[in-house]
Amino acid sequence: MKKEFAVIGLGRFGGSICRELIELGMEVMVIDKNEEKINEFANIVSHAVVGNSVDENVLKSLGIRNFEHVIVAIGLDIQASILTTLILKELGVKKITVKAQNDYHEKVLKKIGADHIVHPERDMGKRIAHHVVSNNVLDY
Ligand code: ATP
Repeated sequence: MKKEFAVIGLGRFGGSICRELIELGMEVMVIDKNEEKINEFANIVSHAVVGNSVDENVLKSLGIRNFEHVIVAIGLDIQASILTTLILKELGVKKITVKAQNDYHEKVLKKIGADHIVHPERDMGKRIAHHVVSNNVLDY
């Protein structure tokens, strides 16, 4: 059965998640305040919306609470990331994954109830370190 996801913010991280979810056959709605980003994804997703996610009415009107999983992939604007997550929580979204910029950001996200917090650069750095070490071990 197809799951319904929403991705908020279409930078490199959000865009990559979105493309992969589509590859996996999922239904994806995307929201970004930048129209160019939305146009880039409009042809591959089920619903592409230009909007500011800190506006509660935008999220409400999109029926965001009915999505099984919402990914907040807003990067630099920590305030927008936190406020968006808070609104999603208040609207009763079941599962929320958020990209964190730093440890302080993560602390606040945890406090307001984000289900899953990721640090893409840090997490990928760890994975690659493990990968290069295990490759070296196999080389011997
Ligand atoms: P990445 O590293 O994933 O490329 P980034 O950390 O540089 O991203 P930004 O470019 O700041 O992050 O934000 C990612 C996307 O989120 C951008 O396309 C931006 O337009 C969008 N965005 C930022 N704030 C909002 C908001 N309040 N509502 C909707 N979209 C937003």
